[in-house]
Amino acid sequence: MNILIINCGSSSLKYQLIDTDTKAVLAKGICERIGIEGSKLTHEPKGKDELVVEKPMKDHQVAVDMVMKALLHEEFGVIKDISEISAVGHRVLHGSKYYSDPVLIDENVKKVIEECFDLGPLHNPPNLTGIKACEAAMPGIPQVAVFDTAFHQTMPEKAYRYAIPNEYYEKYGIRRYGFHGTSHSYVSKRTLEISGLDPNNSKIIVAHLGNGASISAVVNGKCVDTSMGLTPLEGLIMGTRSGDIDAGVVQYIANKEKKSVDEVLDILNKQSGMLGMSEISSDFRDVYKAEVAGNHNAKVANEAFVYRVAKYIGSYVAAMNGIDALVFTAGVGENDGLKRWEICEYLGYLGVKLEDSQMKLRGEEALISTPDSKVKVYVVPTNEELSIAQQTYSLVK
Ligand code: ADP
Repeated sequence: MNILIINCGSSSLKYQLIDTDTKAVLAKGICERIGIEGSKLTHEPKGKDELVVEKPMKDHQVAVDMVMKALLHEEFGVIKDISEISAVGHRVLHGSKYYSDPVLIDENVKKVIEECFDLGPLHNPPNLTGIKACEAAMPGIPQVAVFDTAFHQTMPEKAYRYAIPNEYYEKYGIRRYGFHGTSHSYVSKRTLEISGLDPNNSKIIVAHLGNGASISAVVNGKCVDTSMGLTPLEGLIMGTRSGDIDAGVVQYIANKEKKSVDEVLDILNKQSGMLGMSEISSDFRDVYKAEVAGNHNAKVANEAFVYRVAKYIGSYVAAMNGIDALVFTAGVGENDGLKRWEICEYLGYLGVKLEDSQMKLRGEEALISTPDSKVKVYVVPTNEELSIAQQTYSLVK
């Protein structure tokens, strides 16, 4: 069954057409600079040359129409008719407390996505626009929403509540929701498959370490805690996000720099993290190069990143009262043997031991702990698109 995966950002639209029978990606691509000058579609069909179309895209509707044209293109296309697409799976950022599973989109679902605009102001509006554009371009083809928050809905109240006056939780739903759920779900399930752990008696920590980074504690396949909160700002140090911070810092910067709360939040989201600390780049590779060249700020940023990840792992071992497996995924987790090593050096007290050969391992699924390690440590490449395709398939088959 061919499933089209759509991931809409404020000015971008990423897509993949996946055959769920073979797991093959028939085509993938991105529309960039939607609604601004210099719009561009880059289409990569399997086994064929890349197609680049530079043409104004005033909104996501035009972008979806261009994606459909590319998929159906005589030379660069991969299907002959729209009917060869069985369903569309949309990545939607925020589903609040309403959705813990993927859902077939109807008017009610669209209303809830809209109600969550305040909770996901950068993502939910373009997500909804993308859904409406696909409904118009592919009438009658089922559309499914897969929420980034869904996997974390199993967290117990003690883990998701903030210690703020109850009325804000009740009035506005201010609590921790967690994100990257599709990745945490996919990677933890895959770990259960390859580790031979008993799915009903297992404690796994998933470290999704990329430009956006989060970590989750998964007991018997269910999330019991995760590091991101009401928004993706909380938790680990990320490419440009600060992660955990004393809320007093917001007030202090706002007063000293005469900035609004929104402006300070923008700084914490877009100019902080590895970028802000190193003053070099948000890209972990650049920060590492700078450290090797003797840059002190880059060294501290790298050390602080590793330290924060290790602290979270320690706290989740306590939350789960044990750990069977630790899994690394996403850009840094999959590719950076040194960071994995440094993180695991903090975990010697748990009996974690890594193979030396893991230093060179990149982007491949593997067990990287030694046979006598008390905790199994894995690298499992994440595949959010395939996971969304599989979840969509299970709803529409
Ligand atoms: P996102 O999906 O959140 O944008 P990714 O999961 O793609 O992020 O991760 C991007 C990050 O992964 C970048 O900061 C990049 O530096 C890092 N990364 C990718 N490859 C490597 C590598 N070989 N070594 C170290 N870091 C890497």
